[in-house]
Amino acid sequence: MSNHGLMQRDLAVLWHPCTQMHDHETLPVIPVARASGVWLTDHDGKRYIDAISSWWVNIWGHAHPHINTALKAQLDTLEHVILAGFTHEPIVSLSEKLVALAPPGLSRCFYADNGSAAIEVALKMSMHAWRNRGETAKTRFVALSGSYHGETLGALSVTDIPLFSDTYAPLLTPQLRVPSPDWTQAPEGVTPEQFARQQFAVLEDLLKARHAEISAVIVEPLVQGAAGMKMYHPVYLQLLREACTRYGVHLIADEIAVGFGRTGSFFACEQAAITPDFLCLSKALTAGYLPMSVVLTTEDIYQTFYHRYESLKGFLHSHSFTGNPLAARAALASLELFALDPQRRQQAALAQVMTDELAGLQGHDHIRHVRQTGLMGAFDMVQTGGLPFDWRERRGLRVFEAALRNGVLLRPIGNTVYFMPPYVMSADELRHVIRTAAEAVDEACAAPAHGHDNGVSLP
Ligand SMILES: *Cc1c(COP(=O)(O)O)cnc(C)c1O
Repeated sequence: MSNHGLMQRDLAVLWHPCTQMHDHETLPVIPVARASGVWLTDHDGKRYIDAISSWWVNIWGHAHPHINTALKAQLDTLEHVILAGFTHEPIVSLSEKLVALAPPGLSRCFYADNGSAAIEVALKMSMHAWRNRGETAKTRFVALSGSYHGETLGALSVTDIPLFSDTYAPLLTPQLRVPSPDWTQAPEGVTPEQFARQQFAVLEDLLKARHAEISAVIVEPLVQGAAGMKMYHPVYLQLLREACTRYGVHLIADEIAVGFGRTGSFFACEQAAITPDFLCLSKALTAGYLPMSVVLTTEDIYQTFYHRYESLKGFLHSHSFTGNPLAARAALASLELFALDPQRRQQAALAQVMTDELAGLQGHDHIRHVRQTGLMGAFDMVQTGGLPFDWRERRGLRVFEAALRNGVLLRPIGNTVYFMPPYVMSADELRHVIRTAAEAVDEACAAPAHGHDNGVSLP
């Protein structure tokens, strides 16, 4: 089987996610035959470094021997069983481990099967918990500008990325927005911490005025991923936690992208020493092996649902694949890898390599806002002189193409180039990735605005 043959078959029957399929008139889809560690291999034998952990999920790279072994054993023991009224060892062990690792006070695990579904669960649970207490007016949610919480209708209602949400506005419930603490928007001379405090004042005013109708504030702690790796100071989370408690509003922490060691701490919330009322996890939960998500919450919230059936206070939400044993086993095996000491040290060392290598990009003509939180690194691509490129020029797509030609999988978000390496990437591989990205930026920025093949296919 060659690349070409599989591409042709793909384009006849598939509809790819987050893709304008018209792009594939000029852009090939890459058929991956197999993968190991940080390397993907296509059907013609060409290799690519997966520098984005395949949409932020494969934290241990691909085909990790420890996870593979655990999963094979689970497959022969119990592949699936209904989780309503039944239970199994992997899901109990996983829940015990998650509760032990989570910020103190989160003691209950409710499972779903993808990130967006976890957000739906948290939104419904928050509103329902208030209702169970007789607070029926608390039905609104507050999200940050540039927020991304998924693309099912509830999650999309608290997502603020017009490209994803505007079209569906008639289907969405209007929610409240406050300005993001993202420091790339701070005026000259204002520190990230000062900016976080300033931006927080707007949220404080909103809570003060409208807390009676607000169920929860939802945030992506420390990094707004899909907005383009927008980073902010942890003081924002501290102020937010205090205010939510003061005004009687839940705090939902969406750690779907940042959880499991990505930001330098196991959970991003730890860097602000806070406990949210709901913690949503998915993506890295099973290290990219199988879809699974979980919402952790407090005993206090759990108790508001705990009544006789006829009270209608129960949380009757369900997904068919909830608590799948294979996914739970993969998640447990991934957590076992964290417990190995050398692993932790290797992660910290790799973050330092990223810091050093990114420092070399400071002052580059076409690069602004070089930033990093743990093992997430990013920068924005700009025109000479610093003005942003028009999004229609799709310079990010050119970076993708140039890097791919050189064997590196990057997937810029608009004009933002980012790195989310698997934790097992070597220092040399990471240096290679970042240097290849810088060359790809040079190439993408040097191209004339509309010199691309038949004139760039627009989304
Ligand atoms: C990816 C993501 C989601 C949605 O998860 P899916 O599994 O893609 O539905 C929600 N929130 C954040 C922060 C994410 O990065």
